[in-house]
Formats: sequence, structure tokens, C-alpha cells
Amino acid sequence: MPKYIFITGGVVSSLGKGIASASIGKMLEAKGLRVTMQKLDPYINVDPGTMNPYQHGEVYVTDDGAETDLDLGHYQRFTNTPLGKVNNVTTGQVYYTVISKERRGDYLGGTVQVVPHITDEIKERIRNVSKGKRPDVVISEIGGTVGDIESLPFLEAVRQFRHEVGKENAIFVHLTLIPYIKAAGELKSKPTQHSVGRLREIGIQPDILLCRTEKRIPKEVRDKIALFCNIDPEAVIEARDVRTIYEVPLMFKDQGLDKVICDFLGLEYRAGSLLEWKREVVDRTLKPAKRVKIAVVGKYIDLQDAYKSIYEALKHGGLAHHTDVVIKRYNAERMQRGNIARLLNKVDGILVPGGFGNRGIEGKIRVIQYARENKIPFLGICLGMQCAVIEFARSVAELKNANSTEFNKKTAHPVISLLEEQQDIKNLGGTMRLGAYDCRLKKGTHSFRAYRAEEISERHRHRYEFNYKYRETLEKHGLMVAGIHQSSTGPLVEIIELDGKLHPWFVAGQFHPEFKSKPDKPHPLFRDFVGNALRFKRSEHGDNGENGDQPESSDFPSVEEIIHASSED
Ligand code: GLN
Repeated sequence: MPKYIFITGGVVSSLGKGIASASIGKMLEAKGLRVTMQKLDPYINVDPGTMNPYQHGEVYVTDDGAETDLDLGHYQRFTNTPLGKVNNVTTGQVYYTVISKERRGDYLGGTVQVVPHITDEIKERIRNVSKGKRPDVVISEIGGTVGDIESLPFLEAVRQFRHEVGKENAIFVHLTLIPYIKAAGELKSKPTQHSVGRLREIGIQPDILLCRTEKRIPKEVRDKIALFCNIDPEAVIEARDVRTIYEVPLMFKDQGLDKVICDFLGLEYRAGSLLEWKREVVDRTLKPAKRVKIAVVGKYIDLQDAYKSIYEALKHGGLAHHTDVVIKRYNAERMQRGNIARLLNKVDGILVPGGFGNRGIEGKIRVIQYARENKIPFLGICLGMQCAVIEFARSVAELKNANSTEFNKKTAHPVISLLEEQQDIKNLGGTMRLGAYDCRLKKGTHSFRAYRAEEISERHRHRYEFNYKYRETLEKHGLMVAGIHQSSTGPLVEIIELDGKLHPWFVAGQFHPEFKSKPDKPHPLFRDFVGNALRFKRSEHGDNGENGDQPESSDFPSVEEIIHASSED
């Protein structure tokens, strides 16, 4: 039987529970333990696939086609946990199962209740996550903040779970906030005491506290927290703000959190090393030799989390070149007008991410035209690829008013159209083309050079695709189909590129490469995109990226800039 770690959060949301959980996973993996991670989300949506990014942030997609919480992205970037449908449980899924069973008559004669039916189903799903995987440790993160009404069934379920498996097999870790009150010049432990009190009321005594704080927590404050929250002093861990999220596992390990966890769970304490992670990821992030500026042009740019995996993958791409990637986020809608050359002045690469709906489309297309004509390295992702095809069709192949049928059903040139299998679908939840599909790359393309393989597999989340009828016309004008998936209904275009005569590095994929990138294993397309941005910078500004714009330790980590206005505003 695996050991279980349940992670809860208190006081306020956005303390970084996902990163803390992933960091614990990383630290344990460094000791040679096999880790499986799971997120329990208390909302009633079956999955976040139907939520607006403003509600939820990015939707992370797994190989088996689950639309999941973005915390699974953190798990993937920090650890080697297997990820699929079973790794994200929501209240919606739990109720769906219980209600279906009730209708089938599985509970005939009984009243169906939150306790025991809903809590049993939650426990079943916690057990299920390790089926067929034999992990040493399962880390289950409970979404929301202690005190929320909707978290209660989850907390009751994990309380029972621990009671059933025994204290030596399951522990509770609580992430909390120690605010610094400037006027008093003091760190305050009271909110933490209240939050732990709240947990105790429902029968959970945390074993470990992770204390988010801006300042060092002095020993007396730490001892006070330990005393009033009934926790061993060495299990009160400081979670200070760090310069890069990838430093968190090191910070935890430095305080002996790995030993504390192993002791609680009776795991043999094996010395593990995070040295490589420190050298290859943290040190490279903190001491870059070069810097490039990449524009990300999307609809949800003012929300940090909407393109989370893309921002991270860009940073990873930079690490491969010892380069700091400064991300400039542009609001696509505002790019429809204004002096585009001035707005995009000094960017070394342009990325257009995925998205849905009409808003901002023409701005994206205008930016892509600028990238194409000015030979600025370009990476298009999903909708970004579709927009690149539309732009090329309109401006180069002279297919007037070419469009996607998503934006104009009656367009004369539907270069992007609905996938055949999508045509009769009425329900919108979980019905896109989802998950991993293989793709065959054409030799001699940028993509082939990046992946160094002919067969690849990438994850998808879309309904529309490249209309194959236009392949010949577009190819005649210099657009190249670089990757194809052979489906039962025919070939699907997965990657397009521009011929080397037209542009030095213009690549766009129908899939989401960002979901597979890791800081210590940057995705090949992001790596080469950043590499070409560096080359562009060198040729444009005559520097090799190592002069002039070199980062200084004082302006690190680079801040992301958000550009809302067009130059006329
Ligand atoms: N809206 C487009 C489609 O459904 C693109 C989706 C995406 O970018 N994820 O095909």
C-alpha cells in the first residue's frame, strides 16, 4: 500500500498550494521514491473544460484526453507523476457517479447522502489513482481554502481515509499564511492558529505546516506556531517568497522537510540529491547569460494563469540557451489598430497561443502578418496555427476573405473548418478532439530538426482544423505541411511551416506542445523558437545577446510586461 500525503490550504487562496505540492513530489522523487499526484477540486463542473479562463486559468490536457486543473501542469513540470483522467477529481464527477448509481438502483431501499455515499466515492477515487502504478507515495492536493462550504466532503473523506489506513500511512500538510504587518513590524501567527483550529473542528490535526511568508520567520514565532497549533517545531516549515518557483523544492529540503515526511510515514530515509535540478534549472534561471524578448499575443493576457504552461515552456526554452526570456504580453484586440511596428519594436520572437471565439482574431492575424513579412521567428499554437493559415491564405495565396468557419460560417474560403467527427456534436463538455495523437514529420523541416524524430505524439484540444482541400493551393505559394496525423477519416494537418525562402523560422502546430515541456527537459519547439529568437536578435541589433541588453542581477527575475494599449491610445 502506498503512503498518502494530503495537502490543504488555509487563510487565503493563491498561496501556491499546487507549487508546494509539486515541490514535495520533486523532493521525494529525488530520493528515488515513486510519486503519484492528484488534485481534488471542490467545484461542481465535471471538469474545467467549460469554464472561462478568467474563472479558472488554463485548462491542462492529459494524454488520455482529460481536461484538468492547471495544477496538473505544475505536477508535470516538477515531477514524473503519471497524469490522466484519474489524477483530477471534481465534486461534479463524484456526484455524477453517485447519482448515476442511484438511478441504476444500486442503492435500492436506501437514502443517498453526503456521508457516506459521497465521501465513499471520494475515498474510492483517492485509492484508484494508484491502480496499476505501484507508487511509493500518493500526494493528494485538496483545492479551495479550509472553511469553504464545498471543501467539507473532501476534508471529511480524507479524515476517514487516514483513520482507516492509520497515522503511519497518511499525513496532513497544511499551507498557510503568516502575514507581515508593516506598522507593527511583526509577523502574525493568529490567522494560522484560526485556520488550524478550523481543521481541528472537523477532526483533522495537521502534521506539517508550510508557512508562506515575505520575511524570515524568527525562531520565537516558529516555536509559538508549533505550540499553539500542536505541531512539532521541526515540522513548521518556512515557505518564503523565492525568485523562481523552481527553487521551492530546494528551500523545503534545506529545512529538512524530506526527513520530517519520511519520519512521519516510516519511509526509509534515503539521501537524495537535488543538485542537478539546482544546477540545470535554478542556477540557470537565476544567472542567465543572455536575454530575449518574446511577444505573446492573446485574449487573456492580463490573467497570469490563462497561458500558464506557455509562459513556463518559454522560460524552459530559454534555459536550454542560458537565456532569460522576457515575456511581453499583448492584448490581441488592441492590436487591430495602431502602429504595429512601434508596438512590436524590439521583440525577438512572436507567439500566438490557443483560444476560442471571434474576439481579437483580426489583431492576431495582423501580428502574424507582421511576423511573416519582417521575418521575426514565429510559433503558433492551435488557434495561433489556424490564424497563421488564414493570414497566409489571404495575403500570399490571395484567397480573399479566407477564414475559419468558427468565425464566419459563410466565408468564401473556409481554410479552417470543423472536423468531420465534430459536425453532429451538440454537447459542448468534453467533446473536442482531445488528448494525444501521433504525427509523422516531414524530413528536412524545422520541426523534424527540432524533434530529431519522424514519429511524435502531442496533445490536442480543438474542434476546427486545416481544411485539406486547400493544401495544394497553399503549398504552391510556399506554405509547407510539416506534420500529418493519419486518422480513420483521412489525413489531418498537424504542423505548418513557411518555406525557408520566405521566412527563417515560422512554425505552427494544431496541438499544444507547452503541456509536455519541463524545466530540465525543454520542449524541442520552444527550445528552437527561443534559439531562433536569439539569432534574430543578433542579426537585427548586431549583438549576440550577450551585450547591451544583458540582464543584471538587480533586474532579476525579469518582470512580464502587459501591453494593453495600441500606440494611438
Ligand atoms: N478554437 C479553435 C478550435 O476549436 C482553437 C482551439 C484552441 O486553440 N485550443 O479548433
